Amino acid sequence: MIEVKNLSKSFSGFLAVNDASLKIETGSITGLVGPNGAGKTTLFNVIAGVHAPTDGQVLLDGQDITGLAPHELFHRGLLRTFQIAHEFSSLTVRENLMMVPADQMGETLWKTWTNPSAVRAQEEQTRAKADDVIEFLEISHVADELAGNLSGGQKKLLELGRTMMVDAKIVFLDEVGAGVNRTLLNTIGDAIIRLNQERGYTFCVIEHDMDFIGRLCDPVIVMAEGGVLAEGTLDEIKANEQVIEAYLGT
Ligand code: ADP
Repeated sequence: MIEVKNLSKSFSGFLAVNDASLKIETGSITGLVGPNGAGKTTLFNVIAGVHAPTDGQVLLDGQDITGLAPHELFHRGLLRTFQIAHEFSSLTVRENLMMVPADQMGETLWKTWTNPSAVRAQEEQTRAKADDVIEFLEISHVADELAGNLSGGQKKLLELGRTMMVDAKIVFLDEVGAGVNRTLLNTIGDAIIRLNQERGYTFCVIEHDMDFIGRLCDPVIVMAEGGVLAEGTLDEIKANEQVIEAYLGT
C-alpha cells in the first residue's frame, strides 16, 4: 500500500531521515521501532505531508503522493494521528466525532441555503456513524463527557474513533502507549486489531512498548540513525545483532 523510496529529510543540514526505504503491505499492522532520535517521527511526518522530503519518494497504491498536503492525503484515506487538538477539549466525545472535516464545511454551508432537509439528513447520518463508532470502541460511558476530561488513553481511543468517521484506509499512529495505563493500552490494542480485521484498516504504529508491538505488529521495522536497519517479526529483530547494538548504543 505504501512504498517509501530512498527518503531523506534534513533539518539545517542534519539528516534526520537518511535514505530510508520500506514498504507497508495492505492489511498489515506494521510496527516502527528504534532508539530515540532514529528518525521515526520525522519519517511519519514526511509520509503524512507535514514535512516536505529533502529527497526520495512516497507512493500510495502505486501513485506518487510525495509532498502532498495532509488534507489531500486525508481525501485519499491516509491519516496520521496526533494528540487530540486543544480546541476540541470543550466538546463532548460525541461532538468531537461529529465534527465535519474542515474542507467539507463549504459544501455543508451551501446546502443550508439550497436544501435544508439534505443538511438534516446528513446530520442524522453523521450522528448514526458517531453512534456506531462509540459502540465499536465501547466508549458509550464517556460519549457525553467533555473530551478535555478524558484520560490520555481515552483520548487515544477518541483519536482512533475520529479516523473511523472518515473511513481511513491507512492510519499512522504515533506512540499510542505514551502515558497510557496497561489496561487501557490493551483496550486500544484490541480496537486496533478489530479495526484491522473487521474493517480492513492498515496501520503503521510507532511504539516503545515491545509487548504491545509483539501482540499487534507483523512485520516490525527497525530504524536507527535515520535509516532502516532491519525488518521481521519481533522475535527476529530481537535476535538481530545490529538491532541489539543500535539499542545498546543509545
Ligand atoms: P524518533 O521519532 O525516532 O525519536 P525523530 O524523527 O523525532 O526521531 O528525530 C530524529 C532526529 O531529527 C533527532 O536527532 C531530532 O533531534 C532531529 N529533528 C527532528 N525534528 C527536527 C526539527 N524540526 N528540527 C531539527 N531537528 C529535528
